[in-house]
Amino acid sequence: MKRRTFVKAIPLGLAGAVFSLNFPSLIAAVAGENHTDWSYDDPESWGELSADYQVCSVGNQQSPIDLQSPVSSELQPIEIVYQDIPLKIINNSHTIQVNSNPGNYIIIDGKKFDLLQFHFHHPSEHKMTGKAYPMEVHFVHKNQEGSLAVLGVFLQEGEENATLKSIWEAMPSHKSEEKLIKGVNISLPQLLPDDATSYRYFGSLTTPPCSEVVQWIVFQNPLEISSQQINQFRQIFPLNARPIQPLNRRFLLSFSE
Ligand SMILES: [Zn+2]
Repeated sequence: MKRRTFVKAIPLGLAGAVFSLNFPSLIAAVAGENHTDWSYDDPESWGELSADYQVCSVGNQQSPIDLQSPVSSELQPIEIVYQDIPLKIINNSHTIQVNSNPGNYIIIDGKKFDLLQFHFHHPSEHKMTGKAYPMEVHFVHKNQEGSLAVLGVFLQEGEENATLKSIWEAMPSHKSEEKLIKGVNISLPQLLPDDATSYRYFGSLTTPPCSEVVQWIVFQNPLEISSQQINQFRQIFPLNARPIQPLNRRFLLSFSE
């Protein structure tokens, strides 16, 4: 099997970052285990569904946000080391998720964050100066302390996406256990834009329990996906995006090469 390593540097400064962690909720969220069921029908009420979800309502560092008026900053490079992975796919009733193998990671300020999984939202959760894209991919990473770093990539309507085609062909239309699709490998580097221009801010999980433990890095440049592919996902998930949350006292930082 051809193994391909992809290294990309994105300046990212994270001095002084302190997280308050709620480990059981976080681990459950990362593992896709729900204590209390929730839905996208009424995201404003998530905080009332369970004591574990309160931060969804009362938190002040919530995600997603509108990416506008970023501040330039002295940012240090991060490294992304991605390669091919076998396709392990699950419909967890909130999204389509592809689980990663060990060996894919990013390095931020000398700290390694391992890729756990990536998944899809329709429409995009983040917006670009008020505009949503048809879809957004989230690559979820975790470090040894349990902090998360998520890379976000927008998908805009255009050419058929060959990498996503393999995933779409295996996509379960109803809630499922993880399925290993034999003989299918996904090239993770193909799912990132070439241009490292990106936004960064501190935020939260965009699903309950909305834990405020996430360093967000969202690429400015989208990848393409065909209208047919968007429609195919929409058949399964007509809307799985949380509404925009206020920035409050946070800074949105930008970087371009
Ligand atoms: Zn997500």
